[in-house]
Amino acid sequence: MTKPLLDAIKERPLLGDGAMGTQLMLAGLEQGNCGEEWNLTHPERVLAIQRRYAEAGSDCLLTNTFGGSPIMLNRHGVADRVTEINAAAVRIARQAFEAAGRDGYVIGDVGPFGGLMEPHGDFTEDQVREAFAEQAKALVDAGADAIIIETQTSLEELGIGIDAATEAGAACIIGSMAYDVTLDGSTFRTMMGIDPERAAEFMAEHGAHVVALNCGTGMDMQRASEAVRRYREVTGLPVMAQPNAGQPKLVNMKICYDETPQQMVKGVVPLLEAGANIVGGCCGSTPDHIRAFRRAMDEYLGLN
Ligand SMILES: [Zn+2]
Repeated sequence: MTKPLLDAIKERPLLGDGAMGTQLMLAGLEQGNCGEEWNLTHPERVLAIQRRYAEAGSDCLLTNTFGGSPIMLNRHGVADRVTEINAAAVRIARQAFEAAGRDGYVIGDVGPFGGLMEPHGDFTEDQVREAFAEQAKALVDAGADAIIIETQTSLEELGIGIDAATEAGAACIIGSMAYDVTLDGSTFRTMMGIDPERAAEFMAEHGAHVVALNCGTGMDMQRASEAVRRYREVTGLPVMAQPNAGQPKLVNMKICYDETPQQMVKGVVPLLEAGANIVGGCCGSTPDHIRAFRRAMDEYLGLN
């Protein structure tokens, strides 16, 4: 892409992609196995998933590196391959756009490190800093157009992620929080008690370029619109939203998300009207969801 992502989203909203994790499972990844290692061992399967998203109309693809930090990869015995795994992911996402004959942005995905920091857990802040730094550097060096620090629930970890992306020289840094709707249904906050206003203010102070939300519990398209509006009230930064395809349900011991593209797409225009600059999907969303989003967005933007 000739135009930086941050400039492009000021001109018009862009379409993200859908879930990777649930698609990897469909492609044969066993629960508990390392999906990120597939960037090296089964690149064609990762490419096939991302190509479908690009063909469905995604303008942005998140790399298959949600668990690509050395702390996460260490659980699968491949922490020595951080750079290779993350670099391969950027390459594959780029190839997916090429294969689909479409231009787009590759967003390097950094998920939670998967533990707690002292004093609540076993990891020191330095360990987490080093881990995110290594992953962010690998993604930026491989040519990612942006870095997203996603599914975050604590400002400490989010801040470390943003610092890592900044030090790596990322041209665009997206901070994305996972909110849970409260039991009484009146509002939503992260597991660690952070509300959207506080998260947005923190991100703006900390040097993120885009404030985002993804995943979470009970965060459907309507709730996502509410989050976007609440972000907009406290920040002028661009906003990205990637809700799940409905609520997770346990079917035959497997977690399923059953909101259809037809159901979920109804929330696309309200999200754009709330001020979202990038719209995509998280868990359970598929290329069919993204194709429906593309049509709704193009119609809204007068592009077809
Ligand atoms: Zn999710």
